[in-house]
Amino acid sequence: MKKQYAVIGLGRFGSSLAKELISLDYEVLGIDRDEEIVNEMSQQLTHTVSADATDEEVLRSLGIRNFDCVVVAIGDDIQASILAAILLKDLGVKMVVAKALSELHGKVLKKIGVDRIIFPERDMGIRVAHQLVSPNLLDYIELSKDYTIAEMAVSPRICGKTLKQLDTRAKYGCSVVAINKRSGIIIAPTAEDTVEDKDVLVVIGTNDQIEHFEHAVGSK
Ligand code: ATP
Repeated sequence: MKKQYAVIGLGRFGSSLAKELISLDYEVLGIDRDEEIVNEMSQQLTHTVSADATDEEVLRSLGIRNFDCVVVAIGDDIQASILAAILLKDLGVKMVVAKALSELHGKVLKKIGVDRIIFPERDMGIRVAHQLVSPNLLDYIELSKDYTIAEMAVSPRICGKTLKQLDTRAKYGCSVVAINKRSGIIIAPTAEDTVEDKDVLVVIGTNDQIEHFEHAVGSK
């Protein structure tokens, strides 16, 4: 059976997340204490409920513990965010994801046992800064403090070259682990695979190695 999600707080972040899950074909219960917002979203989500998520009985009656993942997308009201997160963990929800507005808010959520904490504004700021500095960098995932997997657009400078010619491991220390082509993705490409215009390279390495590679081959 497909995973079922609940999103608490249907502000800009919560509603966008909930709608995206729906477009990915998942079932989503949306909860907000503002009835107007709930009415607006009722056509777009699988179920919507107008309720206060800091009320344990309400959460229990919604059978919240049966959801595979519950996202607390309450922002401004830090107290409500923390209370809702505690109740969800207490009720036995396996995967609780919560949005934090500040480092301190994040620390408290971590102490409570929230499984994943998201800092949308902070993370988006960092992401945009990386993309401004490295225009060919499309996206990246930080594996640890030092290691990153990055998606890079193919610049005219490397278009038509084989991985052997690029020789990223020897020259920059990072490895191309996949090439996403229009015709499909090549996982673990060989030295003879060629990178072409509109391909996206998936590169793994330290932040410095990836930056070095991007700067060396990127279009200026
Ligand atoms: P965004 O930036 O995503 O728009 P925000 O950070 O400004 O959101 P808020 O507007 O404070 O966050 O909260 C998002 C939503 O959460 C609001 O629609 C609000 O009604 C709802 N909300 C706040 N507290 C509760 C609660 N206790 N129970 C249910 N919903 C709540």
